[in-house]
Amino acid sequence: VLAVSGVIGTWAGPRSPGTAYVMAHHKLGDIGDGPMGTWGFPEGGMGGVTAAMRAAAEQFGATVRTSAEVARIDVRDGRVRGVTLRDGDSYEADVVVATTHPKLTFLEHVERAALPEDFVTAIERWKTRSGTVKVNLALDRLPEFTCKPGFDPEVHGGTIVLAESLDDLEGAFQDAVAGRPAARPFADICIPSVFDPTLAPPGKHVMSMFTQWVPHAYAAAPHAAELEAYADRLVARMEALAPGFTASILGRQIIGPHEMETRFGLVGGNIFHGELSASQLFHMRPAPGYADFTTPVRGLYQASSATHGGGGVTGIPALQVVKRILKDT
Ligand SMILES: Cc1cc2nc3c(=O)[nH]c(=O)nc-3n(C[C@H](O)[C@H](O)[C@H](O)COP(=O)(O)OP(=O)(O)OC[C@H]3O[C@@H](n4cnc5c(N)ncnc54)[C@H](O)[C@@H]3O)c2cc1C
Repeated sequence: VLAVSGVIGTWAGPRSPGTAYVMAHHKLGDIGDGPMGTWGFPEGGMGGVTAAMRAAAEQFGATVRTSAEVARIDVRDGRVRGVTLRDGDSYEADVVVATTHPKLTFLEHVERAALPEDFVTAIERWKTRSGTVKVNLALDRLPEFTCKPGFDPEVHGGTIVLAESLDDLEGAFQDAVAGRPAARPFADICIPSVFDPTLAPPGKHVMSMFTQWVPHAYAAAPHAAELEAYADRLVARMEALAPGFTASILGRQIIGPHEMETRFGLVGGNIFHGELSASQLFHMRPAPGYADFTTPVRGLYQASSATHGGGGVTGIPALQVVKRILKDT
């Protein structure tokens, strides 16, 4: 389980250097109830978090606009002036906070001439590879494991790791390094409908399988057939442990690196907006001289997962950027 925490969302196997940091990153958090390393499940799924944030912001008088793609961050005389949307609407603002992937913010949304060359080079070199595939399943019933028959809240309500050994994990990574999707992918599984009845009709369930690895080059194209075969292998691994599992699947959704990039703006499919490797942490996240949530453009701030405290749903970049803005204004 520790090894899995060290490679989650990471283009590195358990025997690669640096993965101890990724493990620590995943163990540092808490959900406000005391012990470190605990994980929370928001009621209603992850959308519950943004819905709560929206409600809180609106209470303070904010207007929230969604489905509004930013085409350009407007800069004049070294200062941010606002943003222009893809549909042509524009908003003037003295302060803009970008939470998009840094390659989108600084290589697509801000014009190159407004940024120092060394900063642009650092962002161009930013590593954002991934081999993560998310498989979501709708289930007719809970899986019944041969090794632990019946319902057990600690099993069905906990994290189920589909990996047998370090070699098993390393083998999956080495397959992807060699340019093949893993023959035996691993999965970090949870069934949130066990404790959140809003997610599925009574008796039915949703299963989230966070899995690795496919080649990081899969971000460049859909690779739909390969991803279907990859998901079949995951299901077969579950079937071997929980007979009848395959027959319990009502529907499945497979989200590979290409869809993560094109649909969610996760360049390279990297779930953290950039690798959590030693050269991309602390004062280097996302670039030397700009790890304090500022950018080379006055008034333009950054708070994406590619800043210190990210990735993950930590709230740390947001807290820090607000402190920074208050200090500057
Ligand atoms: C499959 C998966 C599983 C994960 N599991 C966990 C987990 O269990 N626990 C955990 O803590 N973290 C997890 N993470 C990581 C976590 O979700 C991210 O680190 C976090 O959501 C990053 O927040 P963010 O605000 O920095 O960026 P994002 O959540 O990526 O938000 C950036 C937003 O910008 C939008 N956007 C992109 N381009 C534009 C544009 N041009 N104009 C306007 N908007 C734009 C995107 O659509 C997106 O909504 C997971 C991530 C993935 C992908």
